[in-house]
Amino acid sequence: MTEERTVIAIDGPAGSGKSTVAKAVADRLGLEYLDTGAMYRSVAFAAMREGVDPEDTEVVANLSRGLALTVGPDGIVNVDGVDASIEIRGPEVTRAVSIVAANPGVRDEMRRRQREWVAKRNGGVMEGRDIGTVVFPDATLKVYLDASPEVRAARRSKEVTDLSYETVASDLARRDALDQGRTHDPLRAASDAVVIDTSDLTVAEIVDAILGQL
Ligand code: C5P
Repeated sequence: MTEERTVIAIDGPAGSGKSTVAKAVADRLGLEYLDTGAMYRSVAFAAMREGVDPEDTEVVANLSRGLALTVGPDGIVNVDGVDASIEIRGPEVTRAVSIVAANPGVRDEMRRRQREWVAKRNGGVMEGRDIGTVVFPDATLKVYLDASPEVRAARRSKEVTDLSYETVASDLARRDALDQGRTHDPLRAASDAVVIDTSDLTVAEIVDAILGQL
């Protein structure tokens, strides 16, 4: 008999605290952690690097299928032999990523890779936008983190110090609208997700709330 696997799905918009919380939950449970946003960012990065229009759905989907992509727990991301860890977080990729992520061919490919990642480890903690709704609807635990737009923008602008708060806030609002409004796998909480508003909570409080559900 195979050991029962533990899959924790953590979804939510940018700046909701997903990455910090998902890493801490993974540490506490002795599981590996995967940032699926970094995968979509890597596809956008590869398209831009090859001079492909991010809106060209066929070409970008094909490119995603052929991509040699590794996303490490330490944030190190390798795309076709190039360390893209810094560039995938830059403003150009951040602006293009939601277009690439709306592409159903790209989503099919990323979903396949995400399921393979879990199968190899017999579990894990995965953060993204559609993990509880689409990638692992049978996850052990589904969490949806949210926070007010102001709190999320403030958190992001602390990380991205070279852009003004206003720029970060409007980029975030634009990305929220695209991620929530797209046809394929839009951002939303699974009906059986534990929804946590992180606006006024510390990381330790959020992690404890999640672990308390297990
Ligand atoms: O989490 P992060 O902000 O790095 O994600 C970047 C983008 O990747 C999101 O804005 C979204 O468009 C896309 N994404 C997605 N599905 C996921 C993870 C990220 O569509 N599971």
